[in-house]
Amino acid sequence: MRLNAGWRSALTLLALLASACDAGRDFRHDFVALGTVVTVTAYGVREQEFRSATNSIEAYFAKIGNEWYVDTPGELRRANEAIAAGQPVKVSAALKELIEAATVYESLSDGLFNICIGRTIRLWGFYAATPQPARVPDPAQIKALLASGPGTAQLSWDGLTLRSANPDIRLDVGGIAKGAIALNANRILRAHGIDNAIVNIGGDLAVAGQVNGRDARIGIRAPDGGPPLAMLDVHSGEAVFTSGNYERFVEIDGQRYTHILDPTTGRPVEHTASVTVVHTDPVLADAAATALLVGGPERFAALVTRFELRYALLIDKGGDTSLTSGMAERLHWAQPFQERAVTGPGT
Ligand code: ADP
Ligand code: MG
Repeated sequence: MRLNAGWRSALTLLALLASACDAGRDFRHDFVALGTVVTVTAYGVREQEFRSATNSIEAYFAKIGNEWYVDTPGELRRANEAIAAGQPVKVSAALKELIEAATVYESLSDGLFNICIGRTIRLWGFYAATPQPARVPDPAQIKALLASGPGTAQLSWDGLTLRSANPDIRLDVGGIAKGAIALNANRILRAHGIDNAIVNIGGDLAVAGQVNGRDARIGIRAPDGGPPLAMLDVHSGEAVFTSGNYERFVEIDGQRYTHILDPTTGRPVEHTASVTVVHTDPVLADAAATALLVGGPERFAALVTRFELRYALLIDKGGDTSLTSGMAERLHWAQPFQERAVTGPGT
């Protein structure tokens, strides 16, 4: 069969289009895990690679959601049962690594980040599916739970075997686990040959590569739930973690109490609405965001120095901001928020 020139160029165009498709497209996959919505977006990938990667990620999230959360049947619950009974318990290398990272961050934050205060967190009712305590816990009860000074200094290791002399310790790695989970999600993507992707776990995210040849630009949510208050440029290999007092809370007599506690008082943090940290280590970003939220505006500068952060932003409950100069360079403010932040509350 002989084709005329018009047909030949049309076929050449089709072949070019086909190879462009083969070179990859952008895909997005959403699923529910870890009590939130997870979104994986990948750029310039083949569909089959993407499906296979997101299947692995979804399976990993389902498994780790059981292993590392307080009331699900997994290794964290087993560890807590053993600690309560004064028994040694063997954990996975991954959980040991997470607890050891938390030990470092507890020390960097002078105890503001503390994974050992699970009993106090339970007293406030935050582990219930619908957290609804009838009343603020009795201060004497809070004091009693903290009297033994629960902290990672009271944990000891023999290989992967953990034990604690303090049976009041209940581990809760909720303030750091998403960092490790995001890191592993990125490893799974890379193992599937996917280099340009964003894993977003309920607003905490890790960026690999670029978005169609440009740096990723993500919105920073306003604590009051309004439109994004700023856009943030995120480079390849960076993670963005936010701790907010608006995400999960209990309401008692019309007042909201956040799920993040100040370990020194055993009470929910009130002074700060949110903290966002950008770092190449998502585990550090996750823990630092929680620690800086507990520290509040007064300890912002000191904690930035201790954690050696280049990019951190804190919004206090009145809407005033504290931020590092590196963060200021990365942020593109939405105008109305900037005005509000500069003038402050009540003006
Ligand atoms: P997110 O809810 O976005 O994951 P965080 O990373 O700040 O926010 O984690 C909050 C969780 O950390 C709480 O639900 C609780 O499990 C745990 N937590 C609460 N207070 C502290 C604290 N002072 N130090 C470490 N972990 C904490
Ligand atoms: Mg955190």
